[in-house]
Amino acid sequence: MKSFLFLITAVAIAAAQPIVLKTSTLLDGKGKTLTNTIVVVENGKIARVGGSAPAGAVVYDLTPFTVSPGWIDTHSHIGYHFDNNNRYAGREEPPAQASWHIAENAVVTLNAGFTTIQSPGQMLDKDLRDAIARGVMPGPRILTSLNPLTENSGDPAKLRELVRERKQQGADLIKIFASKSIREGGAITMTQAQLDAACGEAKSLGLRTIVHAHSAESAKAATLAGCTAIEHGAFVSDEVFDLMAKHGTYYDANIGLVLQNYLENKPKYFGIGNYNEEGFAYMEKGVAIVLETFKRAIKHKDLKIIYGTDATAGAHGQNYREYIVRVRDGHQDPMQALISVTSLSAESLNLGDKIGSIAPGMEADIVAFDGNPLKDVNAAGKAVFVMKGGKVYENLGHGAHR
Ligand SMILES: [Zn+2]
Repeated sequence: MKSFLFLITAVAIAAAQPIVLKTSTLLDGKGKTLTNTIVVVENGKIARVGGSAPAGAVVYDLTPFTVSPGWIDTHSHIGYHFDNNNRYAGREEPPAQASWHIAENAVVTLNAGFTTIQSPGQMLDKDLRDAIARGVMPGPRILTSLNPLTENSGDPAKLRELVRERKQQGADLIKIFASKSIREGGAITMTQAQLDAACGEAKSLGLRTIVHAHSAESAKAATLAGCTAIEHGAFVSDEVFDLMAKHGTYYDANIGLVLQNYLENKPKYFGIGNYNEEGFAYMEKGVAIVLETFKRAIKHKDLKIIYGTDATAGAHGQNYREYIVRVRDGHQDPMQALISVTSLSAESLNLGDKIGSIAPGMEADIVAFDGNPLKDVNAAGKAVFVMKGGKVYENLGHGAHR
């Protein structure tokens, strides 16, 4: 036992060799821009910001770039992919082929600077989440709802039971569908009693709830039920945005990637389920609708707008496009958009004390962009350095030197 403990101590000391990131422009994720400072990383965490470099540190020179906390996508269907035939993958796909496509989604997401994603969700997310957490395979930190709940899942008692079951199965949160798809018009599908049961039970178990809700009516019902976040919300009214702000309900608009990606990849989806002419017609109209809704949403100053893309097959690794559209077309203040994709999204995941900002004690999830996304939105797509939990996964800029 003694020698085993000694071994652990020796490993801990070896891992303690500090890393220093030299920066010229550092966005801390909470609204501050620091200039010409260093970030000291020890044991996977940020030890301090500023001061002088400790002796023996591995140094990365990130001064040509803009440094930010790792970006967070609170709504990414990491498992959705195109199969070997370049079609939206279905049940007939061999599982081994599916696994590699999904692993590729994880790699390109991380390389784009997204160090954490939330998947709402599939049962197979759990194995992917746990595999990445083992620390060998590159990928973002993953939170998953596992299988979502819908109006057809059962009555309020059954929904409470299913929430408990998800927790037992290892879900990090609960995903609920309270309205139809935008391809079907987005009307409310769940009753207030069903939403009260699902979100109420989750809350009592310490689980967050994110609710797919397009219509104002469905977003209102989810807000009144105390659910954590509203997803999409294409048709939410100003009155309901006010209600959400008052209740502290997060709003996850998805205006920059999901619909555009469907339209760009129409042949790969077309003919499957509601990916038909009518569905695509709704989605084509949807691009302008969700942009206008977003422009209204940002006028509600107290509304907590978080960052989610609803990335599906074909969209992974382009999660930054949401930022570009929000700032360029939605006219969101760039610093507010940066706060949204870092610290505010972290807060919405109940991880605000671990990720989403660059400060002592936080996980060392740090990315660098070639260019400053606050001044040039396209720089958001140019992640050149990605560190997650103190480990460097991408370094297209300057090499490490002692
Ligand atoms: Zn989704």
